[in-house]
Amino acid sequence: MIEAKDSTLPNLKYLSYSTCSILQEENEKIVENILEEFGKSIKLVKTGIEEYHSGNTENTTKCVRVCPKCSGDQGFFVALFKLTGKKIEKKEKPAPVPKKEKKPKGKKPQGKKP
Ligand SMILES: [Zn+2]
Repeated sequence: MIEAKDSTLPNLKYLSYSTCSILQEENEKIVENILEEFGKSIKLVKTGIEEYHSGNTENTTKCVRVCPKCSGDQGFFVALFKLTGKKIEKKEKPAPVPKKEKKPKGKKPQGKKP
């Protein structure tokens, strides 16, 4: 599997991910994790395969999902990513804050709407 260890992926333009599985945990969830981890350095693009089904989560509709009925076997899944050339913005854990004062993070949502 790919990992966001390097800040760039030189010379790669496209990257595909496919499985012989139709489990969401092995497909859409993986794709969503990749999208989150790689941020703006990667984006999901259409595979060009139109005749089957699309990914079954909001962010994976460009993926192709071929159900067992369509494929005649266990089914499969294809995702195609385009590498944008932008550096991976690593989502590091926030730097440790000196433990003097605890400031509340952000604004709390208002309780009630009129
Ligand atoms: Zn089908």
